[in-house]
Amino acid sequence: MGQYESTCCPLCKNDSSEPTKYSEGALKIVRCQNCRLWYLSPRLTEDAMLEHYMKADYFEGGDSGYDSYAAQEESLRMTFRRLLGEMSKRGMCGGSVLDIGCGYGYFLQEAEGYFRQRYGTDYSAGALAQAKWFVDKVYQGGIDDVPEEEQFDCVVAFHVIEHVYDPTTFVNSLYRRLKPGGTMILAAPDMGSWWRPLMGLKWPSLKYPEHVVYYDNKTLKLLMETVPLESHQSMPYPHAFPLNLVFNKLRLPEFPEFGKRAVWMPATTVAIAAKKPLAEEVRVAA
Ligand SMILES: [Zn+2]
Repeated sequence: MGQYESTCCPLCKNDSSEPTKYSEGALKIVRCQNCRLWYLSPRLTEDAMLEHYMKADYFEGGDSGYDSYAAQEESLRMTFRRLLGEMSKRGMCGGSVLDIGCGYGYFLQEAEGYFRQRYGTDYSAGALAQAKWFVDKVYQGGIDDVPEEEQFDCVVAFHVIEHVYDPTTFVNSLYRRLKPGGTMILAAPDMGSWWRPLMGLKWPSLKYPEHVVYYDNKTLKLLMETVPLESHQSMPYPHAFPLNLVFNKLRLPEFPEFGKRAVWMPATTVAIAAKKPLAEEVRVAA
């Protein structure tokens, strides 16, 4: 197999999985018989995947990655503005925020009125070259490239964890960089969405080889329960997309001007927020 590997469940480490109807070549989505997580096995080895991501065209179409991330700029900004409004209503704003996988920094730029200090990480040097103008600091790489002594009032990762090979270690790293009382928010494509049975094998969130884990509300909560967070709450996360991108996914013809408009798509994304306890030492002792 060379660049492929089989894996146990990335969440509960159970070895027994059942096949599903989703596959592409050697890559197969299976389902854990214990925690019911959907995940890719066999999958690309992490080295082979890094090579895949290092291709300069990942953010700009090519044969992988985003269908031009920049073309989605306005709809991504709309999505983040709505989410920030919701976060603000729930008292999750103020202080500092760290955005893992910040891309061009659209979320962090929109977050200007909501957080006093804004930080981001991304593997793409090209994306960070743009993001750095809007934020206090960027770190090239992932969460482990943020010094451990740095702590934030809010740590977010939107559409990142479905790419992460070892999600429990990842969530633990996020947790350690969260101030007591701080909020963690994770969002991913919703495997429990009614779009999936409706669209069958054409469901756009099935992304081979990049999405290695597929979450729904239950398994995302299970993942966040691997660290001592509390007050878990589901976050509404309506996502705006350019009309042409939606048409393209539905295999419908595109429109030159009209198609650039953004439309709201419900139920594409599952998002959960949770808080780090203020008195952590008491809970650990208990
Ligand atoms: Zn499992």
